[in-house]
Amino acid sequence: AKDAGKGQIIVFDQPLNDTFTERMNIEKQLYNALENDELEVFYQPQIDLTQNRVTGLEALMRWNNPKLGKVPPDKFIKIAEDSHLIIPLGAWVLRTACAFLKSLHEQGLSHLTMSVNISMLQLLQSDFNELVLDTLQASGLDPEYLELEITESVLVESYEYVSSKLTELRAHNIKIALDDFGTGYSSLSYLTHMPISTLKIDKSFIDSIRTGTHQAVLVEQIIMIGKRMNMCVIAEGVERTVQLDYLQEQGCDKIQGYLFSKPQAAQSVKELLTEWEKVSSL
Ligand code: C2E
Ligand code: CA
Ligand code: CA
Ligand code: CA
Repeated sequence: AKDAGKGQIIVFDQPLNDTFTERMNIEKQLYNALENDELEVFYQPQIDLTQNRVTGLEALMRWNNPKLGKVPPDKFIKIAEDSHLIIPLGAWVLRTACAFLKSLHEQGLSHLTMSVNISMLQLLQSDFNELVLDTLQASGLDPEYLELEITESVLVESYEYVSSKLTELRAHNIKIALDDFGTGYSSLSYLTHMPISTLKIDKSFIDSIRTGTHQAVLVEQIIMIGKRMNMCVIAEGVERTVQLDYLQEQGCDKIQGYLFSKPQAAQSVKELLTEWEKVSSL
């Protein structure tokens, strides 16, 4: 070992170990995150392009842990799902977001909707619909102001079961958005069988849209499918005005992205919305 010097290739298993330890660490800390009050819900405005007005918010989880610092959702949501912690966490986000929306409605912003991300695992709980309906009732919100964002994978895996659950929610006037649309591998045919109200065009398509590119063709087709099927089409990850102009020209209904606003804490989004409403009513 002493002459294991330059030129010799030593294969470390360090990166793998690091990942494993990191996952274990995150899971351990996440386990108590709720009761330790480390979680927060941020909200990102959704802008209706025909009304030129914020008509909704998307709820996005944030986690600040004393040991790990700020951990982004891309790092902890998967772990929360694997450990089933997403069930209490998801219920908490739903409750928090509904209560916040209710407070906005009471402040006169009564047109606003709330979109909440729902994991596959949550939907598969037999009491999921009951939880959603109870949460709405407790918050005093009219169900038509709530939208649940699901991904295509949810539809592929337990089609029949999920479809009947979503149909029941839709019958209560709760909206269903298909998130990250276009990135999945499933067939388009489920669009005709599923009670989908909104298509969210994935950021990856928006990033690279320029007239004439293949991405642009897809975006145009998604907007057309949405229109023909009476769905709302929203583009996510809009960062530049050229993207906004293009989407507006194509007849996209809504946009969401850093161009307008990053996700923000409840208090600051409340102030922002109140300010914007004042300006637009001038
Ligand atoms: P998502 O549902 O696709 O959410 C959109 C993500 O894009 C958010 O990242 C948002 O902050 C980010 N984003 C929005 N506009 C822009 C933009 O213009 N540029 C860029 N670069 N990014 C933008 P975030 O908050 O880090 O969340 C990542 C993912 O974590 C979400 O993707 C969602 O899948 C998951 N997630 C977040 N909160 C929750 C939750 O409460 N429950 C569940 N099940 N998943 C959640
Ligand atoms: Ca989403
Ligand atoms: Ca998305
Ligand atoms: Ca995404």
